[in-house]
Amino acid sequence: MTEPRDVREVVIIGSGPAGYTAALYTARAQLEPLLFGSSVFVGGSLTTTTEVENFPGFPDGVDGPALMENMRAQAERFGAEMIDDDIVSVDLTGDVKVLTDSAGTVHRARTVIVATGSGYRKLGLPKEEELSGRGVSWCATCDGFFFRDRDIVVVGGGDTAMEEATFLTRFARSVTVVHRRSTLRASKVMQDRAFADDKISFVLDSEIAEIKETDGVLGGVVLRDVLTGATRDLDVTGLFIAIGQDPRTELFTGRLHLDAEGYVTVASPSTRTNLPGVFAAGDVVDHTYRQAITAAGTGAAAALDAERYLAARP
Ligand code: FAD
Repeated sequence: MTEPRDVREVVIIGSGPAGYTAALYTARAQLEPLLFGSSVFVGGSLTTTTEVENFPGFPDGVDGPALMENMRAQAERFGAEMIDDDIVSVDLTGDVKVLTDSAGTVHRARTVIVATGSGYRKLGLPKEEELSGRGVSWCATCDGFFFRDRDIVVVGGGDTAMEEATFLTRFARSVTVVHRRSTLRASKVMQDRAFADDKISFVLDSEIAEIKETDGVLGGVVLRDVLTGATRDLDVTGLFIAIGQDPRTELFTGRLHLDAEGYVTVASPSTRTNLPGVFAAGDVVDHTYRQAITAAGTGAAAALDAERYLAARP
């Protein structure tokens, strides 16, 4: 185990829009932040997509990985230090927080900003990730616009799936909701709205058995009836997977207050967690919006909260 050089003012965990924005703000406030951005997944969720059309400031859209590289470079320009490694253990209770990276180096900080994001649940089928951005998506708000006049299948039976399906009817020719149980989990109001929509049809007791590729893009799916095992082709060029998200909070279980679904709870509208000097921002907190711009926004808020916390210390 190696010891750190000194006690940092700010350590940020996570390299998505929330973490990089927090790094930019704290760097410009002369707090010399240190950001841990993961050993395998630097730049966060947007590095897994191609075209981002809804981040302000880019009238022609922007490539996801390029946007993240620019965010990083902007924070580095003001002196933010980046380490592409994982934080693997934390002690956040004291005035000085203690964080250990995967190389065993111990880092100390007066404030910690948690911006570890969340991951979409996957179906676990071949070609699913390969066709991400090529017909397969996890976010209707992000990608719906690309699916004008298409036939789309939405997988899931909860509120998110109903919301995605209903939203997608603005663009799609048809939306088929596939759910593996005989009843939906969604609230009655969301179900009623989806049932009332002429463009939406339902295939219950069914799951996606296969994702098909045609010329490098989604070429359709095969549905399997879970009761009979019978399969059939569904001719779609859009697949939206809406079976939930997992916030990356394993590191904080038993340390920070988490809600029933594992998201960090904060004293809204601030980014304060239950522990003094520990702030959280982005999708690790957010059930509702889950957008790059909202993550960046709360990243800025966390930086300002950390700055004020440090300024108020005796
Ligand atoms: P993330 O971007 O998830 O970043 C968190 C980072 O922290 C990750 O790199 C993770 O590995 C790292 N991390 C986690 N734990 C640790 C640890 N212990 N140590 C070090 N690092 C750690 N949003 C839009 O607004 N527009 C779009 O067009 C759009 N398209 C999308 C397309 C896809 C395929 C996906 C998956 C998402 C898309 N989104 C889009 C959503 C958007 O990417 C997220 O809302 C946003 O990235 C959340 O930012 P974040 O900073 O909270 O977390």
